[in-house]
Amino acid sequence: HAPVISNFLRTIIENDLKDGAHLRPGLPQVITRFPPEPNGYLHIGHAKSICLNFGLARDYDGRCHLRFDDTNPEKEEQEYVDTIIDSVHWLGFSYEHDAKQHLYFASDYFDQLYAMAEHLIELGHAYVDSQNAEEMAANRGNFGEPGKNSPYRDRTVAESLDLFHRMKAGEFQNGEHIVRAKIDMASPNMNMRDPAIYRIRHAHHHRTGDKWCVYPMYDFAHPIEDAIENVTHSVCTLEFQDHRPFYDWVLEHLADGGFFQRPLPKQYEFSRLNLTYIVTSKRKLRQLVEENIVDGWDDPRMPTLVGMRRRGYTPEAIQLMCERTGVTKSDGWIDYSVLEGCLREDLDPKAPRATAVLRPLKLVIDNFPDELSVECSSPVHPHHPERGNRHFPITKELWIEQDDFMETPSKGYFRLFPGNKVRLRYGYVVECTGCNKDAAGNVIAVHCSYFPDSKSGTEGSANYKVKGNIHWVSAHHAVVAEVRLYDRLFTDPHPDAGGKDFLQVLNPNAKEVVTAYLEQGIHAAQPGDCFQFERHGYFVADRVDSVAGKPVFNRVVTLKDSWGK
Ligand code: ATP
Ligand code: MG
Ligand code: MG
Repeated sequence: HAPVISNFLRTIIENDLKDGAHLRPGLPQVITRFPPEPNGYLHIGHAKSICLNFGLARDYDGRCHLRFDDTNPEKEEQEYVDTIIDSVHWLGFSYEHDAKQHLYFASDYFDQLYAMAEHLIELGHAYVDSQNAEEMAANRGNFGEPGKNSPYRDRTVAESLDLFHRMKAGEFQNGEHIVRAKIDMASPNMNMRDPAIYRIRHAHHHRTGDKWCVYPMYDFAHPIEDAIENVTHSVCTLEFQDHRPFYDWVLEHLADGGFFQRPLPKQYEFSRLNLTYIVTSKRKLRQLVEENIVDGWDDPRMPTLVGMRRRGYTPEAIQLMCERTGVTKSDGWIDYSVLEGCLREDLDPKAPRATAVLRPLKLVIDNFPDELSVECSSPVHPHHPERGNRHFPITKELWIEQDDFMETPSKGYFRLFPGNKVRLRYGYVVECTGCNKDAAGNVIAVHCSYFPDSKSGTEGSANYKVKGNIHWVSAHHAVVAEVRLYDRLFTDPHPDAGGKDFLQVLNPNAKEVVTAYLEQGIHAAQPGDCFQFERHGYFVADRVDSVAGKPVFNRVVTLKDSWGK
């Protein structure tokens, strides 16, 4: 895996290990968790949290739990559970530890969560409030001014308990009553002003069905879920910093009540990953899918992990980016090119080389015998001779790139133009003799003649000094394939910042489909196989649409960063 860079969380854990702060019989001293809500597909931001939490567990001999925080029945579905599990595995992480699968569901704790809320009511630490939502909001107050106690705050324990039981029994409508922790309506921290802990929701839950019509609030459930699972370091993003006092409040009161043993889990916050040129809000991603702006959640332009996987991004590159961008407590933007750089770094040593002509133009070698086919070869990988050579024929008619010919060359242009010599990579040196045009004046074929003693790898080749070196494929042998040239989905580095409408900054050129001519050997590419198409970039055989014998390729990333240039 990617080399580990230290960060403040690692320092905290190392100190805790030194002090034995989380020493408990039969348990690792580091237990982290990744707690997604199964209400959508994971995206690159989640990958940051996955790499962090699973990485800490891996490096400190601990374990990381995958826990579905499924306390919001309306928005959650099994489909999302399945894709999230897949994505975690794809990223290279496992929640198995000591031969046990540490896969958990908050919904499995509903009985315990209910009992703990009941306990808090019994001890007078929580009460049932019967204000409506508007009254509650108004009485909560604003920053810098205290809120007002609910008129129901001092109702008796017996009355609150009875109401809570009847809430559970289904006697009330959504919103009629709510259970709140009794803390301090004047607290400068808004999250401590009697936060809600249980609410009524008549909704079908994807796992518990219609068993419940009361559900715990996130801020109440989360610390309890952590404590039930013996989590030691509960890592979340910065916006939860102000929630930490309530996290501790819940656990301290429940530990006092004998529900949990100390040491209790501790929450730590880090800044979320913000990558330029993407949006990660679930609502906005859903909009892109539902309005058919992209072709589904796994569209290769999407920042979802299923999309990035299909695009050809590798788990190693994503891990490297997550490691390299560090873990801090200050929000900032990471340029998308950092991820692309990691991708090139990962793909370059792995990807076999191949030739692809993406925007074809016919090149005819007039003095090449009609039926002749001469074998050319080049390394599968320039730095790995042990991976052998690839072989492909050169013939009289070839495909070259349109922009490798200019009838009237611009300054500094060294490729084909009448009178100029170039090398056909791994083949012969040719001299351009002219071109044919259609009625509209478009170049439809280029002509040249070749020097039979100039073949690459032969002695004679040294006598030819040319500046241009272009790629080609034999027209007779080429594999015709659909190639999708993907680019960034947005033209603006901050597509949804400051109230901007992200749909106004879509990149109209984010997907271009071309019919390309590929080197013979590509015929057998299997879905998911990745190549470097020389001079172009990295391309992957599409996982969904590609079949051996009829490949479809996605451009993963270009060879160089040319964005905006
Ligand atoms: P929602 O949009 O519904 O609030 P979410 O984006 O917070 O969802 P969750 O499923 O609740 O998604 O997130 C699971 C975990 O992933 C959380 O611990 C969250 O902190 C983390 N996470 C989400 N986005 C990022 C991000 N951009 N950078 C780092 N961690 C993230
Ligand atoms: Mg969330
Ligand atoms: Mg969110």
